[in-house]
Amino acid sequence: MSNPVYKFDTLKIRAAYDPALHNQAVSPPIYQTAAYEFRDTKNADGLFALTDPGFLYTRVNNPTVDILERRVAALDGGSAALALASGMAAISYTFLTLAEGGGRILTGPYLYGGSADAFHKIFPKFGIHFDLSPNIDRPGDLEGDIKPDTKAIFVESVSNPTGAVADLEALAALAHKHGIPLVVDNTFATPYLLNPVKYGADIVVYSATKALNGHGNLIAGIIVEAGPEGAPPFPWDNGKFPQMEELQYVLRDRADNRKRSYLEAAPGGPFVTRIRLHYLNYFGAALGPFDAYLALIGIETLSERVQKQVSNAEKIIAYLEKNSHVAWVKHPSLPSDPYHKLAQKYLPRGAPGILSFGFKGTVEQSEAFLNAIELWSYHVNVGDARSLIVNSPKTTHGELTPEEQKLAGIEPNLIRLSLGLEDAEDLVADLDQAFAKVFGA
Ligand SMILES: *Cc1c(COP(=O)(O)O)cnc(C)c1O
Repeated sequence: MSNPVYKFDTLKIRAAYDPALHNQAVSPPIYQTAAYEFRDTKNADGLFALTDPGFLYTRVNNPTVDILERRVAALDGGSAALALASGMAAISYTFLTLAEGGGRILTGPYLYGGSADAFHKIFPKFGIHFDLSPNIDRPGDLEGDIKPDTKAIFVESVSNPTGAVADLEALAALAHKHGIPLVVDNTFATPYLLNPVKYGADIVVYSATKALNGHGNLIAGIIVEAGPEGAPPFPWDNGKFPQMEELQYVLRDRADNRKRSYLEAAPGGPFVTRIRLHYLNYFGAALGPFDAYLALIGIETLSERVQKQVSNAEKIIAYLEKNSHVAWVKHPSLPSDPYHKLAQKYLPRGAPGILSFGFKGTVEQSEAFLNAIELWSYHVNVGDARSLIVNSPKTTHGELTPEEQKLAGIEPNLIRLSLGLEDAEDLVADLDQAFAKVFGA
């Protein structure tokens, strides 16, 4: 009998761990250690040259963190992954590497507030400039925005908070035509709803703080690199990325003592390996083994949690659409949504359970509404087990100017909801009582 084709390959969630090597323990151990004893000098040489498998120092790699990295790479169909202390570290190290020494990144106006803020305020000081093009929605018109020193195209697969869905296949084709990679922030969708690598993305970044872990109890980031198993490997030696071809002293070949580059020393994941041994090694945003362990537990229930969030969102949308105090509802699952067609193509299991609506009323009424909410949590996170409500223009996207908010489709009366795992009817009941407190029954 041939192997079954699974609808969702849960085996990948359990990948990269063999209980037989750990006294049959079913849950991966937490390797709470700073360093690793080298067997002998030959072993130390081999570890540093990347010719021997193993661990160097927990700032750079750790067995518990390694399981997390391999599982997320497997879930996304990538060749390798790197876990970091936050989603912002994943984003920052990715662009510091791609545009090392200066360059431009082409992106759109639909960005996580923290990313938009960093792109404005800190990256230009490193000579890295972001072009926020409204053409990101029309890949056919985007070509003119690619400049000689553009080093990557960057999008969020499903954006925050308006749910803009990126046309990954078209963007990947355009990026590759110009010899640059497509980088996708897939935080909202998670590998359960979307695998950007399948559509040509070269690098996928996550804030694992959000739905990937899903329990609001840690901060973590992950970078996944496409490769032989998913998309073809990116041609890093095309002349645009000399940093990937630099010969490294530590990567010397033991046979002939010749210096090697990351392309040679780590052909299965040169990009994340370079970040590991440069930006992670030197700047140090390492994920601790305990947080990696928590993330491993969180990911065990990824499919169940995300399915419930998707179905809860559908029920809340149905309620909001009939509510006279709601001016509009934005979610790519709605046939009227401008991204509905793209959602049908890229999100066949459903669009992430994050939506926004326009509050019909004064600022005071909208504040009274938020203060009357009981069951939903009022804080800035998404994809959590708890259902969350937040006034984005004043909080998550408060650093954007009114013009930038407008360009990003964030209207002043926008309220963002992120569905959790509570009962949908209870969530509706809570919204209902809060509206009633403000407007009367
Ligand atoms: C939260 C978030 C980030 C940043 O992640 P942290 O783990 O908070 O550093 C990046 N991108 C998106 C889309 C996010 O929602």
